[in-house]
Amino acid sequence: MKTIEHWIDGAATAGVGSRSGPVWNPATGREQARVRYAEVSDVDNAVSAAAKAYPQWRDASLAHRATVLFAFRQLVAQHAEQLAGIISDEHGKVLSDARGEVQRGLEVVEFACGVPQLLKGDYSDQVSTGVDSYTFRQPLGVVAGITPFNFPMMVPCWMHPVAIACGNSFVLKPSERDPSASLLVARLWAQAGLPDGVFNVVHGDRVAVDALLDHPQLAAVSFVGSTPVARYVHGRASAAGKRVQALGGAKNHAVVLPDADVEFAAEQLCAAAFGSAGQRCMAVSAVVAVGSCADGLVEALRRRAGAVRVGPGRDEASEMGPVVTPRARQRILGYIDGAAGQGASVVLDGRQAAVPGDGFFIGPTVLDHVTPQADAYRDEIFGPVLSVLRVSTLDEAVALVNANPYGNGAAIFTASGEAARRFQREVTTGMVGVNVPIPVPMAYHSFGGWKDSLFGDTHVHGPEGIRFYTRAKVVSARWPQREGPVSASYHFPTAT
Ligand code: NAD
Repeated sequence: MKTIEHWIDGAATAGVGSRSGPVWNPATGREQARVRYAEVSDVDNAVSAAAKAYPQWRDASLAHRATVLFAFRQLVAQHAEQLAGIISDEHGKVLSDARGEVQRGLEVVEFACGVPQLLKGDYSDQVSTGVDSYTFRQPLGVVAGITPFNFPMMVPCWMHPVAIACGNSFVLKPSERDPSASLLVARLWAQAGLPDGVFNVVHGDRVAVDALLDHPQLAAVSFVGSTPVARYVHGRASAAGKRVQALGGAKNHAVVLPDADVEFAAEQLCAAAFGSAGQRCMAVSAVVAVGSCADGLVEALRRRAGAVRVGPGRDEASEMGPVVTPRARQRILGYIDGAAGQGASVVLDGRQAAVPGDGFFIGPTVLDHVTPQADAYRDEIFGPVLSVLRVSTLDEAVALVNANPYGNGAAIFTASGEAARRFQREVTTGMVGVNVPIPVPMAYHSFGGWKDSLFGDTHVHGPEGIRFYTRAKVVSARWPQREGPVSASYHFPTAT
């Protein structure tokens, strides 16, 4: 069976440890490879390689860095189909969805290609007589990314192209469930001319994560994953003195008002709930039906969700693939099993998805009359289960969304500009959609949630990504004329 290795200092390596874990093919239910789990000394080797490579990369000209990034961009584009296939085989998502993931990752690389423009400082002439002041930003050093299974290519791309463009070196710890895309990406960086050691990959579990969080040579950690782990990573790495951004889980609501086009809303919401089998941090998992639209909306959701074509990711006809592991499948089924007992009606039941074989399939599931106390609402299910909650007014809907501890995204479906404007101003999430169910910003804006969906204060990519991977320096400079006066004042300097 294939064994997936680490990538340290420009080469694949088995590392020192003997531990490994399974990589499933979720469409067949079979184990297709083993991935090595790093020990502390493997992480140490990766960080040491990154630290060794850092000074040279930090001092590389912006022109040179941009050249490497453009070459990397070209290589990723050329290998897009191969990357999509790898993602589909290990994650389970359908090929068209995996292609979309690669494209969104590529867009961050393209954003990072503009690094000479993005790192431009500013300059104030004559802040005091004969004194000028200017700011510029410098890289942090060795930084790490720890990423989840659901976007094995795109989420790491939120981090490493930006960090590397800014002059840092990088250690990636991708999800152990779908680790192969990161290795192809490492080879593409090498082909693009990135010096050995600037981009490294260590695979593994908590042992590798803890070794990174505690490592004295690491300056910053970007994390994306579930909320309990995000909270833990933020606490532990902050205590070790590192800069941390830790993006957590989500419960994304879509509020549908009575004036909305119900068929349009249902079409959009089904794609947002069941695309990638609901395993997106921006998936819509709770629909809040306001007033008289509820019955018609639930019927439209049932009809459209029932028509979703479930099947293997490699089958171009499939619209929704399996979930990632047998354990994830069991956990998701548990929520459907428990829903009726907690007051919900199961409008569409995906427990018996009719896909032959042993794949980890679950069909689209729609639950109606879900209460805010129900487990299906309170927990992030991260599967193809859509809960409908019913309220009477927009105020009630906003109160419901804002009472939820998560704050990634929220959407409103309405024909009223006034209602949409109120919603976007009052809702406590980091990203808002107006008749757009999955409001994921483009790479040149920043992505991030509020409340329990983000620990730390900096969002990823876009302007905040540049800020996260650099620190500012301000210089006050004077070039006195030799023949001029030389006296200095002893009071605190003020502009003259
Ligand atoms: P996860 O939290 O289980 O794993 C994320 C990473 O942390 C992985 O690399 C994993 O190896 C590591 N990890 C897991 N348990 C750990 C532990 N106890 N100690 C230290 N490290 C640990 O998340 P997942 O299941 O891979 O991904 C799904 C989750 O990610 C969902 O909650 C989803 O909402 C979230 N997510 C959030 C965003 C966002 O932008 N906010 C984006 C994508 C995914």
